[in-house]
Amino acid sequence: MYEGIWSVDLASCATLEDSSRRHRVDMQTLKEEVIDCPYCGETLHVLLDQQEAGHEYVEDCQVCCKPIIFAVWLDSLGELSVSVRDENEPY
Ligand SMILES: [Zn+2]
Repeated sequence: MYEGIWSVDLASCATLEDSSRRHRVDMQTLKEEVIDCPYCGETLHVLLDQQEAGHEYVEDCQVCCKPIIFAVWLDSLGELSVSVRDENEPY
């Protein structure tokens, strides 16, 4: 059992190095997108991180401070796309 834990530790050390290397690459793959706030309609510039693909997150509108739900995904061309909705919409 302990042997198993040690090998996990070693693996996570390697992963840490990997992720810092990957992080540098990701800095270059940040993509700026323009979205419209679903509440106030204001145009907002957002930075999308490739690591957020497939996830949803909430960020407050810079103008009206209401929580916008961002859904980020990779489209068929491997480009980051984003859609936004207000928190009251089911989808
Ligand atoms: Zn707004």
